[in-house]
Amino acid sequence: MKQELEYSNTLMRTQQECALDGILVVSEKGKIVSYNQKYVDIWKLPEEILASRSNERALEYASGLVLNCDAANAVVRDLYENRRSRSHDEILLRDGRVLERYSAPLEADDGRYYGRVWYFRDITPHKKAEDRIRQANERLRGTISQLKEQKKQSGILSEMREILQACDSTSEVGSIVRRSMLKLFPHASGALYMMGGSGRELEAVAAWGPGSDAASPGSFPTDHCWALRRGRLHLVDEPGAGPVCAHLRKGSRTPSACVPLAAKGEVLGILHLRVEEGVPQEIQARTTGQIGRLATTIGEYLSLSIANLRLRERLAEQSIRDPLTGLYNRRYMEEALGREISRAERNHTPVAVVMLDIDHFKPFNDRYGHPAGDALLESLGAFLKTNLRGGDAACRYGGEEFILFLPDTSLEGACRNMERIREGIGSLRISHLGRRLPPVMVSIGISAYPDHGKDMHTLIHAADRALYRAKDEGRNRILAAAG
Ligand code: GH3
Ligand code: MG
Ligand code: MG
Repeated sequence: MKQELEYSNTLMRTQQECALDGILVVSEKGKIVSYNQKYVDIWKLPEEILASRSNERALEYASGLVLNCDAANAVVRDLYENRRSRSHDEILLRDGRVLERYSAPLEADDGRYYGRVWYFRDITPHKKAEDRIRQANERLRGTISQLKEQKKQSGILSEMREILQACDSTSEVGSIVRRSMLKLFPHASGALYMMGGSGRELEAVAAWGPGSDAASPGSFPTDHCWALRRGRLHLVDEPGAGPVCAHLRKGSRTPSACVPLAAKGEVLGILHLRVEEGVPQEIQARTTGQIGRLATTIGEYLSLSIANLRLRERLAEQSIRDPLTGLYNRRYMEEALGREISRAERNHTPVAVVMLDIDHFKPFNDRYGHPAGDALLESLGAFLKTNLRGGDAACRYGGEEFILFLPDTSLEGACRNMERIREGIGSLRISHLGRRLPPVMVSIGISAYPDHGKDMHTLIHAADRALYRAKDEGRNRILAAAG
């Protein structure tokens, strides 16, 4: 019996000393019955407290080391009151360690209560590893969402570039840019400005977002924008620090950016973006960061697209215009007049076709020289351009012959209108190389759809015959085609 008891005590002591946990056994009366070295290492209890065997004192000492000691002690009190209960929790120490704490009652088979056993395990390295993993996960999540956002943004940008490439005129650019910018920066207002004809003023072609009124005066001089003066992105991420463009309304309190649009040294315009007021600080900062990161790419895309469109527009314009007079050329006239006649047919409306030829132009050339004749043709072109009504069109049909077509105009209406033109040409005063040239007269023949023909060639032929008769009858006059 004695031997058995000794064996059991030895086993218990060895188990306690080999355990990874600090172990403390407290009797029913609150006396420390046993503890192992690990327990002493964890709590660093002074020798005299251990020697006193008082659990009360040990607890008091330990409480001074615990960060969440009120909560930790509440658990202890509860356990000594409810003797049969168990617990498992974590306690934080002031020195940064984290302990895992188990407690279970010491109960004999017959249910007799002897006290309580406590286990303490230092899980600080484990917790630290967990923290590192959590932080790494958070960083990873942040990177993934950033990558997702960047992918979305580059999708929006390439879509914008594709649409810009497919569009035909600069007038479409505004609405495309507005749509893309609202998708890219939902918390920024903005405006797209293009260089006006004078080359000194920028004109707004599109504006968007709730702050667009503030962001976009209709137009402003080029030197009001720092982006144009410096030739690079002007980002104001801290309003109040650094120069602010004069085209921004006073008192703007949110970050803004001006992106210069230029190609081959030619200034095309600017893209202005401004972070909205009233959105949370964090979104403002994120939007500013995104604008800063993407502005140069957006600027390059837009500049290239606008420059290409301008070139295409210029080429298209050149292909339909006669370079000397600036009037439409014969090819364009044939296309446009054909369309006009089809429209007249559908709508049952008239179209007048006018043929105009300068009188005695050959002798004019012979006397004043071919360049003077050219100057006269140029002025006549400018005169026709400015003196025709909106829907009317004039083209240079051949040397000094012109065809005009007047949609929705009857023969009588065209005769009245052309009388004004004939007189106007007769009153043109032109100088060439400092020399005043004499006025020229013109003869005019007019036909009209549908009275003189249903197709372009018949109508032109009828007008030509009327012109021939006008020449025959003494020139400087207008004759309508014979009914
Ligand atoms: P009219 O029409 O009254 O019968 O006499 P016209 O002398 O004008 O005769 P016509 O219409 O046949 O002559 C056309 C002249 O226009 C010939 C040429 O000297 C001149 N001409 C044609 N194209 C040009 C041009 O591009 N520049 C100049 N300077 N002259 C041109
Ligand atoms: Mg002539
Ligand atoms: Mg002629």
